[in-house]
Amino acid sequence: MSEGFDVDLFVIGGGSGGVRAARISAGYGAKVMLAEEYRVGGTCVIRGCVPKKLMVYAGRFRDEFEDAAGFGWHVEAPRFDWSVLKARRDAEVTRLEGIYDANLIRSGVEIVPERAVIEDPHTVRLVASGRRVRARYILVAVGAMPVKEPLIPGADLAITSNEVFELETQPERILVVGGGYIAVEFAGVFAGLGTKTTLLHRGDRLLRGFDDEIRDALGEAYAKRMDLRLGRTVQRLEQAGAGIRAHLDDGTTLAVDQVLVATGRRPNVAGLGLEGVGIALDGAGAIPVDAYSRTAVPSIYAVGDVTNRANLTPVAIREGHAFADTVFGNRPACVDHRLIPTAVFSTPEIGVVGHNEDVARQVYGEIDVYKAAFRPMKATLSGRDERTLMKVIVDCASDKVVGVHVFGHDAGEIIQAVGIAVTMGATKADFDRTIAVHPTASEELVTMR
Ligand code: NDP
Repeated sequence: MSEGFDVDLFVIGGGSGGVRAARISAGYGAKVMLAEEYRVGGTCVIRGCVPKKLMVYAGRFRDEFEDAAGFGWHVEAPRFDWSVLKARRDAEVTRLEGIYDANLIRSGVEIVPERAVIEDPHTVRLVASGRRVRARYILVAVGAMPVKEPLIPGADLAITSNEVFELETQPERILVVGGGYIAVEFAGVFAGLGTKTTLLHRGDRLLRGFDDEIRDALGEAYAKRMDLRLGRTVQRLEQAGAGIRAHLDDGTTLAVDQVLVATGRRPNVAGLGLEGVGIALDGAGAIPVDAYSRTAVPSIYAVGDVTNRANLTPVAIREGHAFADTVFGNRPACVDHRLIPTAVFSTPEIGVVGHNEDVARQVYGEIDVYKAAFRPMKATLSGRDERTLMKVIVDCASDKVVGVHVFGHDAGEIIQAVGIAVTMGATKADFDRTIAVHPTASEELVTMR
């Protein structure tokens, strides 16, 4: 297929979207080359979802030890060793990176471990070697990078979610800035591991865009687990001995060992050569694409966070797969971004599919909201103060379930399964006729009346 070209497809970026697109395209018989300047696996595998979830598990043992005592277990004062967790987590990430590498190679994809930039609609230049590769198609899958917003004096003293995985020692005190997925997840991790944690957010509730009652439930839970400061900003940071002093907008200061800034991510497009080929970025600095992930240049496509559609690994994977089906599989496919189940790995965690109550009311007018709030059974004997909250939102006109929100244990696991029903268009009557699994937390979803 590649007459006149060195390859059929050149993929820039070896993260979730790029790897999937490369493998599936190669499976369709395309000659594929993939450049990755850091480590194959991308943000998700190397410094995102996977190592983060391992840290989430680590932090949750605190609750488990407390619950265990309620069941008669005598656990001697638990002690946490950061270096053990780091070493084992890093080894697991390296193992997964090897699997990603091996799978690409087995699929026939050539991996080029260096930075690639676009020279023209069919040419990529490899920066370190200076080599030029002519490609029939180019796929940009370079992801996004954390940003420190706003750039306050002393911002260079702070770390982002990239560097958090490199910390050799556990901070005794940490300030986490932001109220999105990353800030909420890491604040939960550090508090669970015993770090004195302050979570500071400019808004009056965490997790903008989520259901307000779920946000309130998270805020209440976090206020018990850590020092939660809402409606606050950091004005500047300064070195104070071995630590950092943060100056807040209310005139107070906070002495900590680390400051983790998690105020969003931006598409990783700097120096990629996009402007030179006529690809203008949108207001968020992302690459605009059509439903098939095609850019303004017909031979150049883009998938994943660099397009800022729904910045989630499974979405990037779907987009990468759909690209391959469309361009090399002769099966045009686009991804439906309207209904995306998602989880926030806070402690307790959050699982969501569909609309929150406010949006559902705007979209459907008349809605019914069903709710259940209770203490999880596992925490009853220990008396640990944890609440679970579940909401089911129903469009009155069609009886369709248009939103499910779970705050509590295994919310991510629960919402994945419920997401199938909601994606299929399940009605409240379908939920009601489903027989409960007893005793579980998720049975509440089918017993709400
Ligand atoms: P988010 O966009 O989710 O959150 C950014 C947070 O930073 C918001 O609370 C925002 O406040 C705040 N913020 C933004 N700018 C400023 C500023 N200038 N000053 C103070 N605060 C500011 O970004 P994250 O970095 O948390 O995560 C990036 C994306 O990665 C997520 O949106 C998600 O798509 C993905 N992700 C998904 C995960 C999962 O699936 N579990 C886990 C981690 C990341 P405000 O609300 O007021 O705008």
